[in-house]
Amino acid sequence: MACEGRLQGKVALVTGGSRGIGRAIVQRLASEGATVYFTYRQARESAERVAMEAPEALFPVQADVRDAEAMAGVVQRIQEEQGRLDILVNNAGIARDNLLLRMKDEEWNEVLEVNLFSVFRLTRQVLPIMLRQRSGSIINISSIIGLMGNAGQANYATAKAGLIGFTKALAREVGSRNIRVNAVAPGFIETDMTAGLPDDVRTAFRQQIALRRLGKPEEVASVVAFLASDDASYITGQVLVVCGGYLIA
Ligand code: NAD
Repeated sequence: MACEGRLQGKVALVTGGSRGIGRAIVQRLASEGATVYFTYRQARESAERVAMEAPEALFPVQADVRDAEAMAGVVQRIQEEQGRLDILVNNAGIARDNLLLRMKDEEWNEVLEVNLFSVFRLTRQVLPIMLRQRSGSIINISSIIGLMGNAGQANYATAKAGLIGFTKALAREVGSRNIRVNAVAPGFIETDMTAGLPDDVRTAFRQQIALRRLGKPEEVASVVAFLASDDASYITGQVLVVCGGYLIA
C-alpha cells in the first residue's frame, strides 16, 4: 500500500523507467504524490503507456544514460519546468553475462558504462541543484551480486559493487548539505532481466531464498519510495538488501 501524499511536492528523476523495476518505482513515487520524470532508451510505446496512468505527474523522456549531453538536457529541462529536483533514482542497468575467459571487451565496457560510469556523470549533473536546495535523496539500484559475486557476472558484479562504494563515499561528501545517498540491492526480481533464466535455475534459486519465491518489482519500489521520503531522514550511506532472505548477513 502506497503512503498517499508522502512525496507530495517532490520532483523525481528515474532512469530506465519504461519497464521492470524502474517502471514500478516510477508508478510508486507518483502514487505517493511526486512529479516524476523518467528516461527510457527505446521503448517509446511502453513509456508512453506508463505516462498515461497519470499524465499530469509523469513525464517520459527518451535518453540513453550513456549520452552525457542528452542526460544534461534532461536535468536542465527539469530545472526549467519544476525549479527543483528532490529525488534521483539511478536504476537503468544491463547484464552481459559471460565467463571471464570468454568475456569480450565490449561486454565488460558496456556493463560498466551503463551501470556505473553513467551514474557518476548523471549524479554529478544533478548534485548542484540538490546542493542549492540543501536537500535531496539519491538512490542507486545495485544488486546482491555486487555484495556476493556470481560466476559469469564479473562485469556486472564489479559495476554493482562499484555503485556501493560510490554510494558510501558520496554520502559522506554531501551529508552536511542534507543530501542522503543510499543503495538498494535487490535479489532475484521477476523482470525481463531474469525472464531468460531456465526453469531449473529458477527452482534452484527459489530453494535458497528464505521466502521461497522471486521478488516483484513493486517490492523493490516500496523500499525506494521509503528511502526517497522523509521517513528515511536519518538514513544515508546504507545498502538496503531486498532479496527475500537469499543473502542473510
Ligand atoms: P530490465 O531489463 O527490465 O530494465 C532495465 C531498464 O534499464 C529498462 O528500462 C531499460 O530501458 C533501461 N536501460 C538499459 N540500458 C539503458 C541505457 N543505456 N540508457 C537508458 N536506459 C537504459 O531490468 P530490471 O530488472 O528492471 O533492472 C532494473 C535495475 O535493477 C538494474 O539496474 C538492474 O541491474 C537492477 N537489478 C535487477 C535485478 C533483477 O533480478 N531483475 C536484481 C538486482 C538488481
